[in-house]
Amino acid sequence: MNILLTGGLGFIGSHTAVVLAEQGHELVLLDNLCNSEMTVLDKLNTITGKNLAFYKGDVRDTALIKEILKTHQIEAVIHFAGLKSVAESGSDPMKYYDNNVAGSIALFEAMKAVDVKKLIFSSSATVYGVPQYLPYDEVHPTCPINTYGRTKLQVEEILQDLANANPDWSIACLRYFNPVGAHESGLIGEMPKGVPNNLMPYVCQVASGSLSHLNVFGDDYDTKDGTGERDYIHVMDLAEGHAAAIAFVSRNAGIEMINLGTGMPYSVYDLINAFEKSASRAIERVVQGRRSGDLPIYYAKADKARVLLGWQASRGLQLMCDSSWKFQALLKGLC
Ligand code: NAD
Ligand code: UDP
Repeated sequence: MNILLTGGLGFIGSHTAVVLAEQGHELVLLDNLCNSEMTVLDKLNTITGKNLAFYKGDVRDTALIKEILKTHQIEAVIHFAGLKSVAESGSDPMKYYDNNVAGSIALFEAMKAVDVKKLIFSSSATVYGVPQYLPYDEVHPTCPINTYGRTKLQVEEILQDLANANPDWSIACLRYFNPVGAHESGLIGEMPKGVPNNLMPYVCQVASGSLSHLNVFGDDYDTKDGTGERDYIHVMDLAEGHAAAIAFVSRNAGIEMINLGTGMPYSVYDLINAFEKSASRAIERVVQGRRSGDLPIYYAKADKARVLLGWQASRGLQLMCDSSWKFQALLKGLC
């Protein structure tokens, strides 16, 4: 199938490109490089042995998107392009509504104009908000507690309306839990610009010596060891989930919201312990107060993905840490 990946040079888009290319799909990648580097394209070509089509451009450029969709006879779009910092979404909400919501509308308009009706949207577990019960299933009420989460929910709602009005569209909104890890080659992985906000890339940079220690945001939660618990999912499992979703939207019309998680929560200390084994070095840590806006624990009920997509995560926490460390060590020339 001919597939456009918006945000295709980003963390999740690049790993998904590998899996889809290996399955024989014809891919076109679009990215404005606001949070990625052109070097990722070279790495993707090395891993896949292909010369992937790439456009440097913005999803808000409807004319460009229409042109790409027509030129490459695109049949499905996976819409990864978006901004993802919870903190920045609070300090600069208009940037997030413009990029994530207006950007999505512009993309859907271009798709509608040229009759491309299959779409996978990168949503997030943050749409659920404070858990009323756990694990979150897909019918758990949605009430995001930050601007980033609201942009994701708004796009889901737009897509629900679009699907209601156009029953021949096929849409999957994939609600990711906490993607971590890297491709087994160590060539691609998560490369945040500046100081990382998220736990795994921060731990990677402590291990490689770029940062002195990890700040543990709270050890007094009502969790198994007092630290926050999350449903970490290996990015290659997530990538395979997208391949399964492509097959699903090819067969089914309508819209589905689907969790992509493992169903297994791990604490900050679980992750640090596993990472120390991967890197064979100690991770310095200092316990700090709780980070504002953090939930103590959340994780997915992953049954819907198993039933609808025939997909479930198979890679465990140790592999997540091993591959993250391999990527970081190669990046920093440590191996
Ligand atoms: P990422 O920042 O690594 O990748 C996003 C890519 O989109 C980047 O390469 C960036 O340059 C590009 N981009 C952003 N705005 C663009 C625009 N207007 N036009 C063209 N390109 C644009 O992020 P990621 O971790 O790969 O996340 C991909 C998607 O998944 C995002 O929509 C994110 O919100 C969502 N998501 C991520 C996580 C996570 O923890 N990584 C969790 C849930 C949901
Ligand atoms: N965390 C931490 N130190 C950090 C970054 C994160 O202790 O430098 C904790 C955070 O409080 C949460 C868990 O690690 O309990 C996962 O945080 P992350 O930002 O990776 O994911 P999110 O909170 O967005 O699910």
